[in-house]
Amino acid sequence: MNILIIGAGPAGVSVAEALRAYGSRDAITVLSAEPYPPYSPPAMVDHFLTGSDVHLWRGYDWPERLGLTYYSGTPAEAVDPNAHTVRLASGQLLAYDRLVIAAGARLYAPVEGSEREGVYNFKSLSAAEALVARARAGQAHSALIVGAGFIGVEIALLLRALGLDVTQIEMLDRVMPRMLDPETAAIVAGVMRKRGIDLRLNTAARRFIGNGRAEGVELETGEALRADILVAATGVKPNIEFLRGSGIETRWGIIVDENLRTSAPDAYAAGDIVEAHDRLTGERYVHAIFPNAVAQGQVVALNLLGWGVRYEGAENMNSLKHLDLPVMAVGAQSGAETLRLQRGAVLRQIFLDNGRVVGFRLVGDTRQAGMLRGLMLRRADVRPLRQALLDPRFGVGTLVM
Ligand SMILES: Cc1cc2nc3c(=O)[nH]c(=O)nc-3n(C[C@H](O)[C@H](O)[C@H](O)COP(=O)(O)OP(=O)(O)OC[C@H]3O[C@@H](n4cnc5c(N)ncnc54)[C@H](O)[C@@H]3O)c2cc1C
Repeated sequence: MNILIIGAGPAGVSVAEALRAYGSRDAITVLSAEPYPPYSPPAMVDHFLTGSDVHLWRGYDWPERLGLTYYSGTPAEAVDPNAHTVRLASGQLLAYDRLVIAAGARLYAPVEGSEREGVYNFKSLSAAEALVARARAGQAHSALIVGAGFIGVEIALLLRALGLDVTQIEMLDRVMPRMLDPETAAIVAGVMRKRGIDLRLNTAARRFIGNGRAEGVELETGEALRADILVAATGVKPNIEFLRGSGIETRWGIIVDENLRTSAPDAYAAGDIVEAHDRLTGERYVHAIFPNAVAQGQVVALNLLGWGVRYEGAENMNSLKHLDLPVMAVGAQSGAETLRLQRGAVLRQIFLDNGRVVGFRLVGDTRQAGMLRGLMLRRADVRPLRQALLDPRFGVGTLVM
């Protein structure tokens, strides 16, 4: 069988690796739009801060080790599911028996002009390289980031560490509003401001402004903010444009069934490009985090091998790095009952519905995340454990005793 994978991010990589791990000898071809070996986006900031190649998580010899054909710098431009072909920018057609679409997503903001030249992205390595190169070449002294979600905050921290004057605006009243409650968000905002980031909350962007190239942002108040580097980062937008005309069903992302099959025959999808159901709530949306991309890639691989595996659903899980303060938010961020413990810099909030953990937020000490996640996914009745859950020593030992 001839398997073609579009995208060499965590999703595409895990499809290929799981295929080989389960003994597939099929011909595998992987296309990457970018001129690099596979890389891990969460490690890009560390790469830029330290200069190390931590982001090249699979090494340069990945294609040889897996015995696959790797086309880097080769974006797919169109898919024809009837002919079972993918067209490359060169016009070349690649035939497939099975297709996996894992082309990821890019940063985005629903603000007029956010896709104009001068608005930088930081979702792919090529986009991030372009942004950082400008800062390092001394061509940029200031940055303005629209949106303070977890990726926006990481970008702000990096650009500040590179010596830029950084302004970050957020429409809502706190940073990472989907992930943090006001109390935790205030702690994070305090760290950011201490590092010199000009964080403006309750501040909405109306449009990007400038002659030709974007040079600043006009706020809803009419005030104009200008900066050398502009980033639009309120969310992510799946890279589905090249599927136009293919008949593959999309909404915000690609629509998939419970086996992660698209609406086209012999075509699967995985990762940030997919609208998947939430494991706990059943809600469908793009769950753009690394572990979901990897898990979906593995499910796709098993289904390519004919196992008929059902995808259990995506998880909502975020952690914030580079703050010198571990912060982790998993599952729902509210519940009928909240268990709460604060001790110094450690804050633990556990959300319960009907005696079951539906989510939790840990600040300062995230060591018990695995245990809490396990209880949450098993929908265990934790009523008898209420007090133990808040005990910093809570763990397997506590459960056994
Ligand atoms: C700065 C940053 C920090 C992050 N931190 C975390 C974190 O701490 N924890 C976490 O869980 N997640 C984090 N994420 C999110 C995580 O990186 C993504 O969820 C994950 O990379 C998704 O994997 P993917 O393979 O679906 O997509 P991507 O990683 O986006 O990879 C898709 C690949 O497809 C390629 N491609 C696109 N279009 C085409 C085309 N037409 N033809 C061929 N190739 C194409 C792209 O070049 C890209 O390399 C972070 C993301 C960023 C940007």
